Parts: sequence; structure tokens; C-alpha cells
Amino acid sequence: MKHSFRGGIHINEHKNTANCPITPLPPPKTVAIPLSQHIGVPCAPLVAVGDYVRKGQPIGRAEGGLFCPIHSSVSGKVIAIRRRQSMHGQALTDIVIENDGADTWHESVLEAEQPTDSLTPEEIIAATEAAGVCGMGGASFPTHAKIRSALGKVDTLLINCAECEPYITANHRLLLESPHDVLRGTLLLLRALGLSRGCLVVEDNKADAILLLRRLCEEGYPAISVEVVRTKYPQGDERQLIYAITRRQLPPGKLPADIGCVVFNAETAAAIYRAAAWHKPLCERIVTVDGDCIREPKNLLVPVGTPFSALIEACGGLCQTPERLVAGGPMMGFAVWGADEPVTKGTSAVLALSDADTDGYLGEHDCIRCGRCVGVCPMHLLPNYIASYTRIGDYEGAAENGAMSCVECGSCAYICPAGIPIVQFVRAAKTVLRQKRS
Ligand code: SF4
Ligand code: SF4
Repeated sequence: MKHSFRGGIHINEHKNTANCPITPLPPPKTVAIPLSQHIGVPCAPLVAVGDYVRKGQPIGRAEGGLFCPIHSSVSGKVIAIRRRQSMHGQALTDIVIENDGADTWHESVLEAEQPTDSLTPEEIIAATEAAGVCGMGGASFPTHAKIRSALGKVDTLLINCAECEPYITANHRLLLESPHDVLRGTLLLLRALGLSRGCLVVEDNKADAILLLRRLCEEGYPAISVEVVRTKYPQGDERQLIYAITRRQLPPGKLPADIGCVVFNAETAAAIYRAAAWHKPLCERIVTVDGDCIREPKNLLVPVGTPFSALIEACGGLCQTPERLVAGGPMMGFAVWGADEPVTKGTSAVLALSDADTDGYLGEHDCIRCGRCVGVCPMHLLPNYIASYTRIGDYEGAAENGAMSCVECGSCAYICPAGIPIVQFVRAAKTVLRQKRS
């Protein structure tokens, strides 16, 4: 049986790279590694300009609070520690490292895989924390904190393999090429959480991955099952995923653990396994590079901190000037200032889109009260009212219509025939409401 949720939209999937194997990116000349790649406190540098660092060496950590340590993704010399503005408009610090091309790993990373069968829950969580693993589906929440917050509260572990955003196929390729890493990571999560069964949730547009995973689970992972969900956006949002599989509704303001569930991304599960078995930090990730301006779309294995320009170059360059360069998917990703933006732990895709691929936006018109935005909203909100209240500066009115419960999936703006940038209005309302309430 295929599971689903109410609302959502069917969009052109553009999964052009589904058959493109993961290819290691040619070594970048320099990397600029942001000291804040996670939700929480930014890290402070552990190195100075002129220092030699090895791949996997810790180069940033915070003294307290919620954070993930940051590691070097190459071996080489620190040539700058610089401040800049992030794509979200915040000031952040990058550690710039000149790659010596030697790819020398730090001594903390094991040369041989260690057995993980006897690791205790605390050892699994500690390895995840030391490796700087955070959510790799985009949210970038520190994984060790997520596991700890779920201890003793959850009965359901879901591994999110939906990958519902158009274009992105990084998880799909991971499931096909390194399924054991995902499955072993899932087993470690089960042990850490004290659960006996877990479930991989895959959209039905990945038939090859579903077949492979089901066979592997039958042969060697009886504690794990594979559940299939209908291909629909935003199926990968954890609220929709939880509802589709368990029929439990996540009330506004609550966490999945409050209703007995916890969800991890497939690549995060693989990173947990590598952290436990190899002490390998999260310093590289799979990135889908696509869009109608990319000459040769690919899935690349990329060191964190690599500029987008190096990824584009590895894909044969641009075949036309992009209207927009996007970090992440076209629905929930962010347009960036330029191609020197670095890849972070949360960058699942780099998209170079022309005007045609951004649907030839014709500008905004008056709301015609068609109600389509209401019908597709997976959070059962009134997006048209939120936008209208925000437009006139009535933020409490926007709040009363659920602005703070919006997951910013963009379905309402996508479907709106009047071209109203509803998500931008919701984001503006949320920003003001947060400031007023802090
Ligand atoms: S209001 Fe928010 S949750 Fe609802 S469709 Fe729009 S962006 Fe998605
Ligand atoms: S989809 Fe657009 S035009 Fe239709 S009700 Fe919503 S905001 Fe108005």
C-alpha cells in the first residue's frame, strides 16, 4: 500500500540525474568552510592563519550550547579567516584553506573500519557528535541533540528517503550505491534509541531503490522495513512523512518526539554509520548539480567549503546565463548572491535556472479568491489570508491564521494563478512575530 497525506502538489520532477552515478569532484584549489552550518551556536576557530591542517581535523567548535563541530574537508594551509554575509543575510565566518592535494587524513580518522555491533547508545551518540553530523536534508539540526531529545520518548524511527524536491537525486543515488551505509546507520539509530524496528520511507518514483532495499532488508536487516509513499510534494516534510506512515498529526509548536516519532534523513543515517565505524567526520557530501543552464548535470561528492563555481565547472560549465543560482531544491532552497557561495553540510543541490525554468514568472496580480492555495496547503492553513494580513502589516492577523505553523514548502505560491509570492509574505510575518515575541 502507498501512503500519503492531504494537500500538496504534483510538480514536474525534473529528476534528470537519477541515472548519474556519484562522481568525486576534482580537488578544489581552496575551500571556504563556514563556522556555522547548523542550527545553534556558531563555532569559534580552532586554527589560525598559517596553520597546516589535515582532512577531517576539527577546525571549529563552540564552548557550549547547541552546536556541531566543524572539520577541514581537505589537507593544506589555512590562508584566511574571513567574515562575510551569508545567503540569508547574516554575518558569518569562513576558514579558507589552500588545498595541497595530498588528501592526508587526520590521525583521528581510522584506517580500518571498526565493528559497531558492541557500541553502546552513548558511544553512538558521542561518535555522531564528534563527527559534526547534522541533518543533511536541509534543516541542519545537530543530530546528536536530536537523538538525545528523543531518548525514552519515541516508538517510531523513520528514515526519510522521500527526496520530494524537484531535480535532487542525491539520496536516490546514495540508496543505490551505498545502501549498506544507510541501513547500518539505521541499525545504530535503533540501538541508540532503544527501539527494535525502524522504517525507510521512499517515494514511489524510486522503484529501483525500493526493490534493492527490500531485498537487502529481507536478506540481512530484519529489523528494518521499507515503506512506499506516493510521489507528491512536500512528502519529505517530516510532518507529512509521519502522518503518511503513522496517521499521527503533529500539533503546531510540537516536535515529532512529542507524538512518539523521530525522523532522520538517509544521508544523515549513512553519516552516523561512517562516524561510528571510521570516526569519519561529516566534511563532504553528495550534491546534485542541475538546472537548464548546466551543460552536463551530475551528482558529485563534494568537500564542504567548495565554491559552487567549481561544481558548475565540473559539470561542463554553463550553457546559458542563469536567472537564478539556487542552493537546495527549487521549492525550499535559497537563491544565492553568486557562484563563490560554498557548499555546506546542508547543501543537497546547486541549481542554475534560466527564466524558462523558473516558470517565466509574469508578475503579481490581485487575489481572485480561487482557494487553490488553501486546497494544497499540507498544514491546513489559509495562505491567502496570511498573505493579505501581512500585506497590510497586521501580523497578529497573520498569526491567527497560522503563519507560525507554515513549513514554507511553497506549494501555495506554486499553485497561485495570481502569482502572489505567498511564502515571502509568510516568511516576513514569521520574522516580525518572532522579533515581537523574543
Ligand atoms: S502556507 Fe506554508 S505550509 Fe501552507 S502551502 Fe504555503 S508555504 Fe506550504
Ligand atoms: S491561490 Fe492565489 S489567487 Fe487563489 S485564493 Fe490563494 S492567493 Fe488568492
